[in-house]
Amino acid sequence: MTDNPLTLQEMLRRALRSQIDLGLGECIIGRNLSQVEPPAPATPFEAAIQMSASRKDEVTTVISPREELLQMSILGESGLASPLGNGAFDSVESHNTAICKCKLCPLGDGRIKFVYGVGNPKAKLMFIGEAPGAQEDLQGEPFVGAAGQLLDKILAAIQLSRREVYIANILKCRPPNNRDPLPAEIEKCLPYLHEQMRIIQPKLLCCLGRIAAHALLQTTIPLGKLRYKWHDYHGIPMQVTYHPAALLRFPEYKKETWEDMKVLKARYDQLC
Ligand code: URA
Repeated sequence: MTDNPLTLQEMLRRALRSQIDLGLGECIIGRNLSQVEPPAPATPFEAAIQMSASRKDEVTTVISPREELLQMSILGESGLASPLGNGAFDSVESHNTAICKCKLCPLGDGRIKFVYGVGNPKAKLMFIGEAPGAQEDLQGEPFVGAAGQLLDKILAAIQLSRREVYIANILKCRPPNNRDPLPAEIEKCLPYLHEQMRIIQPKLLCCLGRIAAHALLQTTIPLGKLRYKWHDYHGIPMQVTYHPAALLRFPEYKKETWEDMKVLKARYDQLC
């Protein structure tokens, strides 16, 4: 029998777990700079600087073992979020349980409820909105306010319901006063959506509105120009349409949205 040496990642994971088991909310990690070989000084001046620097040799950082472990479960062994998640969870329930206390960005401190997603965990079609609003924050479910009621009607018009599809947002927590998500918030939250996509394995995606489309397609092309075509989101065909909240403000977009929905339903029916 061969002993598999632990990877650095696994050693770190175990160390963090033991800190959590000990009930530590924070721990200090330190690095002794004097153990790091400095580059050879090129001049006497550089040599003098190195000698004085070697006295202040301890660099420390305070970390939360729970948050670090959470980050590690979201990010792969490489430390980079893979486009469709890293395969850490086998169900939406276990994923939701693992991330619902997230404090990776300040929105976690202001939320009432974490809004993971709703629908069929085996859905072929996934709708992606922007972020929870006031009602969603209260109820912990996406699209339950006025825009959500319109989304339900749109779904009914194509003979679908929120129980058959899956609905999630780019952000899982409500931004204050419903402001647009910040790039740093999107960056922290997007791996959660990727993991949801990896677990659910939708065959089609539909982006509701500019924010979701821009976040996923990494573009600033106006929404009107992103419609009318299928985009490829890491192998999943993705359509972009108006956000239901925009339709409440600008009912004249409803006709175009209906055109999008007919195209979406036709492709959906081909899959089933
Ligand atoms: N708008 C969104 O984008 N998502 C919601 O969940 C509610 C409103």
